[in-house]
Amino acid sequence: MEIVETSSEDGVARRRAVGEPVLELRNLSVDYGVGESAVHAVRDVDLTLHRGEVLGLAGESGSGKSTLAYGMTRLLAPPGVVAGGRVIYHAPGSEPVDVLQLSDAELRHFRWAQTAIVFQGAMNSLNPVHRIRTQLTDVIKAHEPDTRPAERLDRARELMALVGIPDDRLESYPHQLSGGMRQRVMIGMAMALRPQVVVMDEPTTALDVVMQRQILSRMIKLREQFDFAVLFITHDLSLLAEFADRIAIMYGGRIVESSPSADLYREPLHPYSKGLLGSFPALRGERRELTGIPGSPPDLRAMPTGCTFHPRCPHAFEPCSVQRPLLTVAAPGRDVACWLHATPDTED
Ligand code: ATP
Ligand code: SF4
Ligand code: MG
Repeated sequence: MEIVETSSEDGVARRRAVGEPVLELRNLSVDYGVGESAVHAVRDVDLTLHRGEVLGLAGESGSGKSTLAYGMTRLLAPPGVVAGGRVIYHAPGSEPVDVLQLSDAELRHFRWAQTAIVFQGAMNSLNPVHRIRTQLTDVIKAHEPDTRPAERLDRARELMALVGIPDDRLESYPHQLSGGMRQRVMIGMAMALRPQVVVMDEPTTALDVVMQRQILSRMIKLREQFDFAVLFITHDLSLLAEFADRIAIMYGGRIVESSPSADLYREPLHPYSKGLLGSFPALRGERRELTGIPGSPPDLRAMPTGCTFHPRCPHAFEPCSVQRPLLTVAAPGRDVACWLHATPDTED
C-alpha cells in the first residue's frame, strides 16, 4: 500500500493510503447503435480505481459519464453496446477477471456482492408492497443465507443510521417516505453487502445540499472502516473537490484530465477542467469569478477534428484543430490530453 500526500487549497495536507487497483478500465468504448449510424458515446477510456479510493467523474451533460457507468457494469440497455476494451476486476484473494466476459450467474454476484450501483432516480426501484425492513434484510439474506434474522435486522438498522434515517422507519412502506428518504434507503441498500466497489451516478441530486454532504461524509468514514472504493459521478465539482481523492474529467466521451482532487482544484491543467471549475462557486479559500464555458458540448455525430474541445477553447493554437492530443503524464499523478502540456508531432 502506497501513502500519497496531497495538499488541498486550504493548505491542509491530506494523507491517503491508496491501495492496489480494484477495477481497471482499459480502452473501454461504448456505442449507441451499430455500423455507420453508431454514436460513439465513450471512447478508449483508461481509468483505474484503487482500493479505498474515492474517484470522482465529472463533465457536462452528455459527456458520457452514465454510459461509462452502465457499460462497465454491463447494465447498458439496447441500443447501447460495449464496442471494445476490458474491465478488469481484482477480487480480494482471487485472480483478476474481465467483467465483460463473466457468465450471467457470475455477473449477478459481481453486481450485488462485489459492486453496488446507485443511479439517479434509484428510489423508484424500491418495491412498493414491502416494508423497508423486509427489502433490506432480503438483500442480505439472498446473498448471505447463513446470517441469522437478528443479525440481518441489526445490519438493516446500521444501514438506516448510515443514511441518517431513524430506524423506526424500517417499518414504513416506500410511499410513506419522502423522495429524498427513499433515495437514501437505496444508498443504504447498496452498502448492505459491504461491496468492494460502489458506483454512484448522481445519487444525491434529489437531496438537499446539507443531506448530500452528510451522506458523503458518512460514506467516507465507512470507507475508512471497510476499505471499499467509490466511483462518484456528478456535475458538482465542488462536492468532488471536498470528498474525492482523485477527479477524472470527461469531455465528448473521453477522459481529458485525471488528477488528485486538491491539485485539480488548485491548478487545473486542461482548459476544459478550468472552465468547469469556473462554473461552480469556490467552496473555500479565494473567491473565484464564475465564468462558465462558452459554447455547447460537441455533437457526438459530428465531432470536431483534432482536440474536440478546440471550438470552445480560449487557448486553442495551431495543432489543436488538426491533431488529437493523447492523455499523457504531465506531472506526477496527473494525466492530461492537451497540446499545452505535450509536444505535437512534427513532420520531417
Ligand atoms: P448527464 O450529466 O446529463 O447525465 P452523461 O454524461 O451521463 O450526461 P450520457 O447519458 O452517458 O451522458 O450520454 C452520453 C451521450 O450518449 C449523449 O450524447 C447522449 O445523447 C447519448 N445517448 C445516451 N443514450 C442514448 C441512446 N439510447 N441512444 C443514442 N444516444 C444516446
Ligand atoms: Fe485547448 Fe488545444 Fe488544449 Fe484542446 S489541445 S484544450 S484546443 S489548448
Ligand atoms: Mg448521466
